[in-house]
Amino acid sequence: MAAFQGALMKVIWWLLGTAGLSVLAADLLGRQLGLGAQGGGDESIEKVALTFDDGPSPQLPALLDLLSRHGVRATFFLTGERAEGDPQAVRAMLEAGHQLESHGYTHRHALSFTPWGEARQLGWHPQPGRAGRLYRPPWGGHSPFTRLLARRAGVKVALWNAESCDWLEQDGAALARELLPTLGGGANILLHDGPDEERSARTLALLDALLPALRARGLEAVTLSELNPRPLGWGAGWKRLREMWIRPPSAS
Ligand SMILES: [Zn+2]
Repeated sequence: MAAFQGALMKVIWWLLGTAGLSVLAADLLGRQLGLGAQGGGDESIEKVALTFDDGPSPQLPALLDLLSRHGVRATFFLTGERAEGDPQAVRAMLEAGHQLESHGYTHRHALSFTPWGEARQLGWHPQPGRAGRLYRPPWGGHSPFTRLLARRAGVKVALWNAESCDWLEQDGAALARELLPTLGGGANILLHDGPDEERSARTLALLDALLPALRARGLEAVTLSELNPRPLGWGAGWKRLREMWIRPPSAS
């Protein structure tokens, strides 16, 4: 009996260890290094992409006005819950020529789902059936199943290679000044739509400062499909990892 109990405990510890290592490996390889996920575009092209997560928010009309004023089309990663609650906003974004992609049905970390729950999370898209659909996991978070489920759902995992830090409590124009020197051709910039008036005002101020400065440097802001992002390899992954550890945690 004691021998059986000892063997059972070994199996339990082995299973727990394997599960723990799988979770750590998924986070390191999938989120922090982002290996295989879409990052930035070719550095030799003079284009950057603005990507907005978490919408549509009540502040979207002001953001659409600003983008229209600057003559810019962007990419929005929407959640299913918000998109279903505001179909008019979804229509407005499409009519303005913006690219719509998925931020999951609900804004929850991949590890909070069962595998079948994560499959449903990944299965939602604002334009189901469209070719080349993208999925940006909330906070970039990965479970050990995320990449497998994305492949099964026919979506590509899309991350970013430049962070606007528009979630920090700082002046929007100051954030733009800090961001600008880090940007070059092919940048895939993470920004947010909302979630409240204060954060939205900061993002708008950031964009009002950033967009003319980008234009002055000859960098055109385009949608992600026009940027044609490449999968992140080891070199870009290490750069991403270093920047992640010297900057505050992302609020994607
Ligand atoms: Zn998010």
